[in-house]
Amino acid sequence: DETLAPGEGRNDHKDLIAADARHVLHPWADLSAMSDEDALVVQDAKGVHVQDSEGKTYLDAIGGMWCMTVGYGRDELVDAMADQARKMTYYTPFGDVSSEPAARLAQKLAELSPGDLNRVHFTTCGSTAIDSAVRIAHYYHASQGQPERRHVLSRKNAYHGSTYLAASLCGKAADRTLFQYEKDFVHHLSSPGYDADIAEESSEQRLAELLAEMEAKIEELGPETVAAFVAEPILASGGVLVPPEGYQKATRELCAKHGILYISDEVVTGFGRLGHFFASEVRFGIVPDMIITAKGITSGYQPLGAVLISDRIADAIGESAPENKPVFSNGYTYSGHPVACATALKNIEIMEREDIPGHVREVGPYFMKRLRELTDLPIVYTVRGDHLMACVECWTGEEAGPTAKNMALAQRVDSYCQSAGLLVRPYENLCILSPPLIVGRAQIDKIVTILEDALLRAAKDLACGAFE
Ligand code: PMP
Repeated sequence: DETLAPGEGRNDHKDLIAADARHVLHPWADLSAMSDEDALVVQDAKGVHVQDSEGKTYLDAIGGMWCMTVGYGRDELVDAMADQARKMTYYTPFGDVSSEPAARLAQKLAELSPGDLNRVHFTTCGSTAIDSAVRIAHYYHASQGQPERRHVLSRKNAYHGSTYLAASLCGKAADRTLFQYEKDFVHHLSSPGYDADIAEESSEQRLAELLAEMEAKIEELGPETVAAFVAEPILASGGVLVPPEGYQKATRELCAKHGILYISDEVVTGFGRLGHFFASEVRFGIVPDMIITAKGITSGYQPLGAVLISDRIADAIGESAPENKPVFSNGYTYSGHPVACATALKNIEIMEREDIPGHVREVGPYFMKRLRELTDLPIVYTVRGDHLMACVECWTGEEAGPTAKNMALAQRVDSYCQSAGLLVRPYENLCILSPPLIVGRAQIDKIVTILEDALLRAAKDLACGAFE
């Protein structure tokens, strides 16, 4: 259990916080609520721990932001970054120019990915990979003489990123109400989450309803106008929502029947979090037309995203008649950045050498079992998840779970956890957990002990259970 020596704290801690408060517009923050006191300035990290600018160490059960796989502060990864930076930091990736790390990484990803997903389009993050995949779907259909296939299906509660198009695909009502993003070609089906512990209907019934809705939507739009279905195998930031058994396979078949491309967003579920490099085939029995990856591909050490594309689709775009083939105008200055690709290659080497996916298959069920022991606490509505992605849904007992978006709940739990040296991610009434994949059993026990205490304290403050 590598950890950090107790920190000294920084003399300029207060200046740093003030500079941040004055000048940084934080992503995904409640801007009205930010104050000079708020920012957690992280200055050091090792293994599963991070340390703030006051020298306080936390066990990071958020895993950065779902992305930490092999642990913080690994010299081997830093050396790989430095070696590549010294050798050739950057050159354009456009047109017929490539770099050694990009070519080698694409070859490796083709080996790790299912079926004929042998082509890789690199991007800079998950959002840009999602945008690119939708554009690739449009290029593909145009290549088949079907440019009218424009519509894209997503689901409520989905999270796909924060560029304009990725945000349009997101399905949380709170993110969408003010701006009617791209509503003429993006369509949201129901949230597919199914939680056997609290569900009123059987898994088979729920699956049948979801499929009937999807089929009806395709018919309503006209199957010949639908380009793609974009889906996280398990919805991550939407609240770790696990679809009913068989959902991924059945939706994949429905897409194939109607010529709709299936884009699996494995930004969170890929790179070991569910115990495999990619979950689509091994866990859910499907070979999508495209897989999106980011985050864990570099263990968060460098920004990188990628779209893995089937040969069938890439070849069709390349070989189409000139009148159906506009210039493939998708790509970024930093697509497949050499330093990021070298980092990813080293990260994969470490993950294979240490069999990190195997470790997750071993500790993941233990993590879920320990977390599920919290189900009976008065503040806990339900605990759900899979391997190292999990969520504790809180309630006051007054109003049933998913509707009780009581912000005070998870924030209160989070502040008790932080005082005790644990970071979890509060979202509305949810505490989301995705520890680094190297987490051990003793650390899992520590997470559960601190979380249990925080949940009990919050329950007491908020008189949870008094309504039952
Ligand atoms: N897809 C999923 C499933 C995600 O969880 C995220 C990020 N949380 C994204 C896409 C977007 O990735 P990024 O933030 O790297 O743009």
